[in-house]
Amino acid sequence: MALIDKDIYKAKSLLETGEVIGIPTETVYGLAGNAFNVQAVTKIFQTKNRPTFDPLIVHSSSLTKIAQFVQAIPPLAQKLATHFWPGPLTLLLQKKSNIPDLVTSGLETVAVRIPSHPLILDLLELLEFPLAAPSANPFGYISPTQAEHVQAQLGDKIPYILDGGPSHVGIESTIIGFEDITPIVYRLGGLSIEAIESVIGPVTLMPHSSSNPQAPGMLKSHYAPRKPLVLDSVDQVLKQYAPEKIGYMGFSDFRKDLPEKNQLVLSHTRNYAEAAQKLFAVMRTLDTYPHLEVIVAELLPEEDLGRAINDRIRRAAAQ
Ligand code: AMP
Ligand code: MG
Repeated sequence: MALIDKDIYKAKSLLETGEVIGIPTETVYGLAGNAFNVQAVTKIFQTKNRPTFDPLIVHSSSLTKIAQFVQAIPPLAQKLATHFWPGPLTLLLQKKSNIPDLVTSGLETVAVRIPSHPLILDLLELLEFPLAAPSANPFGYISPTQAEHVQAQLGDKIPYILDGGPSHVGIESTIIGFEDITPIVYRLGGLSIEAIESVIGPVTLMPHSSSNPQAPGMLKSHYAPRKPLVLDSVDQVLKQYAPEKIGYMGFSDFRKDLPEKNQLVLSHTRNYAEAAQKLFAVMRTLDTYPHLEVIVAELLPEEDLGRAINDRIRRAAAQ
């Protein structure tokens, strides 16, 4: 089992020897290694059982440091960085050769982010290298939002998990790339499209369900629990399963036609940020209820973080 603690100096010394460790971020927990070190990056892919065509996000603490490994930060990227970094936004920028091809799955762009979690920011400031870090879950399973989630799934494969408490945002970062100078959203995430458009105007959304390696991470089935998660109406599911076997993940309200103990809601006050924060933990909890055979999920309104939450719910249902 991994040691769980809050010691950034311990984390630093492990990372400097090429180890990979669990780290907290405000989006989800990451599985981090030295982004300049091919052995460390290889270890990340192996530990997660992640296919090497799915590239990693590189985390850094400042634009000055980022300039060491990207060709340029175009004006629009600069504007987004100024508004939203540190925070749940990832930018795709042209990489320099010091970023190994393995990190980007051979793509010319590298995904870069300055996270806002204070513990990881402090650690990044101490380090001489950026951290490549995908979410700290086995490939395809629900992303971790607490140190204990990382321990449960990868604890026997890594020496250390830096504990920063529950992730405040709760879903992965929003990813934006540029085609010439047109901004394109590659993945919906913890920063809403509305917030982004208020700064740079209209953006284009990539269709999110293809498994085209040109747009890695767009794999349809992702973030999935072990039990089937379905988007069918409860009435439909009741034709196939007894009520006691059906779990329910709702936005704000319990249903009268299912046992209350089988139900969890994301936000009683219909607050999107709270719903995002709880999403993966709630999925995980329902997945562990032994008496349930299926989980019915309710979609949220398609606005604000509701869109990113729905994206995750649909992927979880897409097995
Ligand atoms: P994770 O950190 O597990 O959420 O995974 C990182 C995700 O970032 C990948 O699955 C891709 O969706 C995305 N990504 C990373 N680098 C690139 C890139 N160069 N181009 C497009 N998407 C990328
Ligand atoms: Mg992931």
